[in-house]
Amino acid sequence: MKIGILTRNPALYSTRRLAQAARTLGHQPVFIDTVQLALRLNPGGMSHWQNRQRLPKVDGLIPRIGSSVTAYGVAVVRKFEQAGVATTATADAIAQSRNKLRSLRLLEAAGLPTPRTELVTAEHELHPAIAAVGGLPVIVKTLRGAQGRGVILVANMETAEAIFAALSGFHQPMLVQEYIGEAEGRDTRLLVVGGRVTAAMIRTAAVGEFRSNLHQGGTAVAARPDQRVVRLALEAAAVHDLSVAGVDIIQSNRGPLLLELNSSPGLEGIETSSGVDIAATIVRCLEKKLREKQRKK
Ligand code: ADP
Ligand code: MG
Repeated sequence: MKIGILTRNPALYSTRRLAQAARTLGHQPVFIDTVQLALRLNPGGMSHWQNRQRLPKVDGLIPRIGSSVTAYGVAVVRKFEQAGVATTATADAIAQSRNKLRSLRLLEAAGLPTPRTELVTAEHELHPAIAAVGGLPVIVKTLRGAQGRGVILVANMETAEAIFAALSGFHQPMLVQEYIGEAEGRDTRLLVVGGRVTAAMIRTAAVGEFRSNLHQGGTAVAARPDQRVVRLALEAAAVHDLSVAGVDIIQSNRGPLLLELNSSPGLEGIETSSGVDIAATIVRCLEKKLREKQRKK
């Protein structure tokens, strides 16, 4: 099949690996620049998009949507879905995992464990919110951060107030979250593909850092998570309707807690640490989706 890989940067490790895996499995990969397509949304007011000929003809799609282009990316994926293209991530699934508040609500509604979290949209809510999650220190998050950006460990009230003031200046709400200090900068990233955990790694934050993200200097080793953690990751992905997800789980004194899900998980750290060909499992997952689509026709 012809597989569109939606990306801003074909040179990235993950995109290169996906293209390589597609070729190895006998498919033809094409890179599609998310923003180049999405830019056509504006001039001519969607008219280009209503003409499906303008969409590159592909049978399957692997969206790799960066957090800076989520809104465009989601619109682009939706257009492909409407054109009948099979995708490893639907527009709805991407949208609901990208918003940390929406994602936490979904997890909570499903009875899945997460750190205590409060949304703060007005100044008078700040102190009660910090108290509600157990007091200082707390973790402060923006709704749309990624790669550890926008996740701050806050030890005093003055800093919390200053961050709130800065965010509200941009009309950005703020999440206040219980700090899981006992994790000591470690968490587990599990890669869920097609209802299975294909690989997992334990990430450890750099010295002097609490965020385990590899983009923040964290390091990774292969992990064999226990059944409880595996089940949590699978349930979290299912609740978000994500067939491909990077699921972050932190160990607290009261057991594993879900931190977040990533609909375009980076492959380099996890393939390198686990030795698993995750790109191939993603392409196989797309093959299965295409077969299901054809069977329904
Ligand atoms: P991002 O989308 O930026 O990766 P995360 O919510 O996954 O945001 O947070 C980034 C990292 O910060 C996590 O991988 C974890 O190491 C650390 N972290 C996040 N939330 C907490 C928390 N409540 N307690 C302790 N550490 C946390
Ligand atoms: Mg994360």
